[in-house]
This record gives sequence, structure tokens and C-alpha cells, in this order.
Amino acid sequence: GKKKRVVIVGSGWGANALMKTLDTTVHEVIVVSPRNYFVFTPMLASSAVGTVEYRSIIEPVRWANSNLEYQEAMAMDVDTKRKVVHCKAVAEKRDLEVPYDLLVLSVGMKTSTFGVPGVKENCHFLKEIEHARALRTAIIENCEAASLEDVSEERKRELLTFVVVGGGPAGVEMSGELFDFLNEDLKKIYPKLVPYVSTKLVESGGTLIPQFDTPLQKKTI
Ligand SMILES: Cc1cc2nc3c(=O)[nH]c(=O)nc-3n(C[C@H](O)[C@H](O)[C@H](O)COP(=O)(O)OP(=O)(O)OC[C@H]3O[C@@H](n4cnc5c(N)ncnc54)[C@H](O)[C@@H]3O)c2cc1C
Repeated sequence: GKKKRVVIVGSGWGANALMKTLDTTVHEVIVVSPRNYFVFTPMLASSAVGTVEYRSIIEPVRWANSNLEYQEAMAMDVDTKRKVVHCKAVAEKRDLEVPYDLLVLSVGMKTSTFGVPGVKENCHFLKEIEHARALRTAIIENCEAASLEDVSEERKRELLTFVVVGGGPAGVEMSGELFDFLNEDLKKIYPKLVPYVSTKLVESGGTLIPQFDTPLQKKTI
């Protein structure tokens, strides 16, 4: 008779697919995530250069399944004996306990810096909407800084040299988007900056997109 309470932790790809398909006539579904929306990550690079708007690549959790409940909180620990997830509520930063019958952890992964000093402090990441927004702001700010009348040619080049680290699919996509933005849009908006612009892609391995087959790798290079 009583519905089983399914708690899904996370609102990314895995969690989103599950919350869309779970039968809420059989299960009570509770989603716990600090992010009340799903992000369509393949379009993050495009949103970072303004080709698509942020709002077009997200879906609110409550739209995924209108019968689920959502708790805006970060899971901190799981008490498997009491069947409770210990959380920190985002808005008020207070503790919250979420009981479950069935628990699904779909919290994804953290971006790796591979232990390289300075990366965390000095680089942009590309995993969340706020990352894309920060990157877009930084690109425009660098273009504006390079447009100031008293800026030397050397400084213009510094400001307009964009380096993408990582030759996997996301890095290749990001450099492609940057290249298109700088070669197409920048020409129209900041024509005087064109001679100073360059994009570089850095990869430590012998090939780009190593996950794919050789013909595609060659085509990418
Ligand atoms: C720029 C970019 C482009 C990509 N392009 C592609 C592509 O074209 N094709 C492809 O197949 N894959 C692509 N990927 C990879 C794909 O996005 C990941 O494989 C996928 O997101 C993994 O899904 P997930 O559900 O495991 O984690 P995620 O989608 O990362 O979701 C994790 C969720 O857990 C939440 N969370 C984290 N910690 C906690 C916590 N403690 N408590 C509660 N919630 C928590 C997060 O807020 C998030 O909602 C791309 C990734 C990036 C970054």
C-alpha cells in the first residue's frame, strides 16, 4: 500500500534520466541537489561564447517530473542504519535530514586539476552554467581591456591569447567555439583586435580526442 520513498541525490544526466522515468504512482520521488536544474553539458561551450543562451540549455528539476519533490541541499553523509541522508540546505545553510527507503547517488565527478599548481586559482573551468557565464564575461572583458587606446601591442596579444587545456571532446569543442567566435563575431564587433587574437589548444598526449577512432582524431587535428 504505502509508496516507497526514493531519494535521488543529484540533478545531472544520470539523475535527470531517472527522475523522468520513475513511476510516481508507485514511488514517492525526492530529489536532493544544490542545483535546481539540469544542464545540457554538450552546449556549455556554445553558451560560453554566446552562441546559445544559458536558459536554453537548462531544465528545471520540477519540469522533469511534476510529481516529484525537490530539496535544494547538498548531501554531506549517508546514515545507512537509519536510512537518512544528512544534508546542508543551500539557502539557509542549515542541516537537513532526508529519510529514504531507496537511495540513488548520482553526484557526478569533480573537475580534475591533475594536481597542477595554480590551475584552481587562475583558470576557468567548464562544467556548470556559472563557469560558462564567467568565461563569457572574461572573454568580453579582455576584448574591452585590449580596446583601450593606451594599451601596448604586446599587452593586446597577451589579453587576446586564449589557451584551452585538454584535448578531449570538451576541450576540442571549446577551442572550436572560441575560434569561430574570434574569427566571425569578433571581426564584426572588434575589427581592430583581429591581428592580435590567437587560440591555442594544449594536450599532453599524442593525439586529440583519444576516445574516438583514428580517422576522426586525424580530422580533428
Ligand atoms: C563541457 C562538457 C561537454 C560535454 N559533452 C558531452 C557530450 O557531448 N556527450 C557526452 O556523452 N558527455 C558529455 N559530457 C560529459 C557529461 O556531461 C557527463 O558524463 C555527465 O554529466 C555525467 O553525468 P552524472 O549524472 O554522472 O553527473 P553530472 O551531470 O555532473 O551531475 C551531478 C549532479 O550532482 C549534483 N551534486 C554534486 N554533489 C552533490 C552532493 N554532495 N549532493 C547533492 N547533489 C550533488 C550536481 O549539482 C549535479 O546536479 C560533457 C561534459 C562537459 C563538462
